[in-house]
Amino acid sequence: ITFASLELAEPLLRAVTDAGYTHPTPIQAQAIPKVIEGGDLLAAAQTGTGKTAGFTLPILHRLLNNPQQNRKPGRPRALILAPTRELAAQVEESVRLYSQHTRLRSMVMFGGVNINPQFHALRKPLDILVATPGRLLDHVRQRTVDLTGVEILVLDEADRMLDMGFIRDIRKIISLMPVERQTLLFSATFSDEIRELARSSLNNPVEVAV
Ligand code: AMP
Repeated sequence: ITFASLELAEPLLRAVTDAGYTHPTPIQAQAIPKVIEGGDLLAAAQTGTGKTAGFTLPILHRLLNNPQQNRKPGRPRALILAPTRELAAQVEESVRLYSQHTRLRSMVMFGGVNINPQFHALRKPLDILVATPGRLLDHVRQRTVDLTGVEILVLDEADRMLDMGFIRDIRKIISLMPVERQTLLFSATFSDEIRELARSSLNNPVEVAV
């Protein structure tokens, strides 16, 4: 199996080639076609499996194939929630890498740093937002982020987000975006709490495990 056979858009194939990847990893081979189809996904995958490209590449593909006319500041089409600033920064770096040959724009936001540069960055139109839950809600309250245009939601390392006590924030965030959206949940472990979050936030998900 090759990346080309996954029918990813040409600018994404170029980015993958630039990155030096020759073949998709198992999670990528399983997840990419499912996400391109548009359904929800419940994925059991650890860090190091290539899961980031596994969700980022098909999300970029969908955004490219369904262009939006009125991009707006602070109104992302895809939202990726991550538990820590380190992971959020790393995920957004991957989004930048894989979107380098497109005009899609991404941004990362996390707490523990001055919020003013984030306000400044939010003045430009935005396609993909990577965020930790608490700081994202700060922006929602300040009305600098609007979640009503979210078409795709990713809950990355959902088990760690729950361990860190983010469940209320996650539920609040989900309540602010359209019910009709695509949702992808990645977790290394599947506790009852994760199963319950999956039941309430995913619609008839395909399950993949590596
Ligand atoms: P992740 O599990 O998403 O944190 O990715 C782990 C590492 O694998 C990252 O450094 C990626 O750059 C790398 N990687 C992702 N996909 C591939 C691939 N298909 N071939 C080789 N390396 C990859």
